[in-house]
Amino acid sequence: MILKELISNVALLIASLFVYSQSTQAMPLSRSSTLKAKIVSGFLAGILANVLMQYSMHFDNTIVDLRHIPVILVAYYGGAVPALASMFLVIIGRFFIGFNTSSLLALFLIVSITLLTLAITRLNMSKRVKIFLTLTSSNVMFTILIVYLLQSVSTLTVLIPSFWIISYMAGFVSFYVIEFVRRSQNLLNKYKAEAATDGLTGLNNVRKFDQSFNKIAAQAVHKEEKLSLLYIDIDHFKKVNDTYGHKEGDQVLIELSRILSNTVRSFDIVSRNGGEEFTVILMDCPTDRARDISERIREKVENHSFLLTTGQMIHVTVSIGLACYNETTSEPKLLIKEADHALYDAKQTGRNKVCISPGYKWASHRA
Ligand code: GH3
Ligand code: MG
Ligand code: MG
Repeated sequence: MILKELISNVALLIASLFVYSQSTQAMPLSRSSTLKAKIVSGFLAGILANVLMQYSMHFDNTIVDLRHIPVILVAYYGGAVPALASMFLVIIGRFFIGFNTSSLLALFLIVSITLLTLAITRLNMSKRVKIFLTLTSSNVMFTILIVYLLQSVSTLTVLIPSFWIISYMAGFVSFYVIEFVRRSQNLLNKYKAEAATDGLTGLNNVRKFDQSFNKIAAQAVHKEEKLSLLYIDIDHFKKVNDTYGHKEGDQVLIELSRILSNTVRSFDIVSRNGGEEFTVILMDCPTDRARDISERIREKVENHSFLLTTGQMIHVTVSIGLACYNETTSEPKLLIKEADHALYDAKQTGRNKVCISPGYKWASHRA
């Protein structure tokens, strides 16, 4: 039964591709993949092709299966390196099954399919046309060889059409599975990024802030590092909205987010926690240094001319509350509350200033 083996080939192929695409979702095989990734993919495709050979149909000394599909796939996505790696494994595997005219012709077949695929992938055509051309040329080459090898007309009249149908089907379905998994992964990654980002400023949103803060706080405790947190709020921002409109207020928020990102260190985490409130998580940063950074932010904002969409320039100021784990508090989970309190102090005592959580005085007296 020819169909039974070929359908086993298709099932194996699809299941393996699904698992492979899922497991490499962070870095799918492409022409710009690392050499190591290309060799590994080629190797895995070679193994899959060898597994497919175990489910092949036997006609005298000739075996027929879909071993060419994994080679075509890696050639298409990863180029020459994985294609040649998988091709060599196919050749070696075929000689293990038997060394005869048929296996020599199989060598010729797989080499020509690999080279043809590599040539076709370089053509300036749509993906679909390239896939169609690759599969068709493989089927043509297979047909020429099988007609040469098997003289039985009755076998050939069943085998050739079956092979063409299954090879097309397996080829298209394989590409479809890969493209489908890649597309789903891209969408998932996009949605994940959007779920963590503030739509207006592009900074982390409050959900991402919570996640990052919990992770970094746990690390700070573990590594016995200092961790500072800044709470930043625009002074009298309501007035900006009331005077210039909400849209211009948004413009100020966008510009402020740029100042914050440009003033802190590249690995510090800047978030918009809501409205006109921002936070900065300063990793491995004691109170003194956090105070310097806060002052730098405060001064930069004070001296900055915020450009409105109307062309007008306005000035705003910010108040900043600062707390530091292991200096103002011994409990990382109290940092948020303390920084918020310090911000409240800054607002109460005149605005446009940096206030440090009161625990700091106690800590520096103690030192
Ligand atoms: P304070 O100095 O005490 O912080 O005064 P404030 O006016 O900044 O404080 P308040 O919390 O009373 O007002 C915050 C304002 O921020 C109210 C709201 O109109 C404005 N706001 C909040 N979210 C947004 C936003 O997404 N876009 C704009 N344009 N304004 C916002
Ligand atoms: Mg405010
Ligand atoms: Mg506020």
